[in-house]
Amino acid sequence: MRRHHIAAIPGDGIGQEVIPAGLEVLMALAERQGFALDVETFPWGSDYYRQTGRMMPEDGLDTLKPFHAIFFGAVGDAHLPDDLTLWGLRLKICQGFDQYANIRPTRVLPGLTSPLREVSPGDIDWVIVRENSEGEYAGHGGRAHRGHPEEIATETAIFTRAGVTRIMRTAFAIAAKRTRKLLTVVTKSNAQKHGMVFWDEIAAEVAAEFPTVTWEKELVDAMAARMVRRPQSIDTVVATNLHADILSDLAGAVAGSLGVAPTANLDPSRRFPSMFEPIHGSAFDIAGKGVANPVATFWTAAMMLEHLGEAVAAAALITAVEQVCAAGILTADVGGSANTAAVTAAVVAAIKGANAA
Ligand code: NAD
Ligand code: MN
Repeated sequence: MRRHHIAAIPGDGIGQEVIPAGLEVLMALAERQGFALDVETFPWGSDYYRQTGRMMPEDGLDTLKPFHAIFFGAVGDAHLPDDLTLWGLRLKICQGFDQYANIRPTRVLPGLTSPLREVSPGDIDWVIVRENSEGEYAGHGGRAHRGHPEEIATETAIFTRAGVTRIMRTAFAIAAKRTRKLLTVVTKSNAQKHGMVFWDEIAAEVAAEFPTVTWEKELVDAMAARMVRRPQSIDTVVATNLHADILSDLAGAVAGSLGVAPTANLDPSRRFPSMFEPIHGSAFDIAGKGVANPVATFWTAAMMLEHLGEAVAAAALITAVEQVCAAGILTADVGGSANTAAVTAAVVAAIKGANAA
């Protein structure tokens, strides 16, 4: 039997609610589709910090390295600084495992409403590929003459041939596997004439390796407008760390809720385990109430299954989630009245009720 080793890190707040829900659904799928999941759950996060003075053990990355994938909830605590919790756990894993490709699919699920008046479920089907290791967030820069009139701060965007080439290859490869095979390379080479021109040149070089993919360039400001005005014209998108950060929040908003948006932090070279997580945070305002939307986590789980080579199970999970959303079994953030347990039970029932593959 195929066996996959999963490290689960629920983390803080509603992470503690949505990750167990995700595992329940994954176990039902494994049983149905004939594979095994060995799950080890790690109690790392803010409570762990209060007990030990660390968000995760010093050798935490060594512990995680042998796993096939990491299933992550959220970090963030009302009583601890966000940079401590984020850098102490989540970013330590992203950077330590060189998860350089951040993949963010966006769709308006059946039963959900986009704030865009003319968009119905099915009209938006995007994958945004975000460069996750360098660019504007490389942390390169400094401050001098603090407090003086001459004070200066620099924040230098870093683009490397290795870094841009690998994210372009990842994006073209994803586009090549999709029905429309259309990739939009988001840029700003009109105004930023070094890094962004380099970005465009490497896109053109890598494009030659993927003759089946149609590609185009779009300036980031025009792309923001196009996502609102002509969302149906978009398929796969690749953008820098900063540009994709902003565009993917816009994408989440047009899809209807943060509670349904998934993401994967991939090391496509597979030297290290990749990490799968809902986009949302620990949601202090609803934590502990059992009302968090588990759909983002289910979709994330489907991305993890796909990465593990369980494409049939991944598709079955998406189908089950779509059935449940279409039936109106929704949490409050998307206009329903069901709680986390009710949505989870409905998805498990849909999985069990489906014809065996
Ligand atoms: P958040 O995503 O936690 O919450 C924003 C809003 O969306 C809240 O009103 C929340 O109730 C709602 N929401 C989020 N997920 C939901 C779900 N599954 N179901 C229903 N409603 C949902 O963002 P925030 O409030 O800015 O941050 C709270 C904490 O989470 C902070 O400490 C922040 O640093 C952290 N955070 C962590 C991550 C991560 O771990 N990847 C991401 C974002 C924020
Ligand atoms: Mn962001």
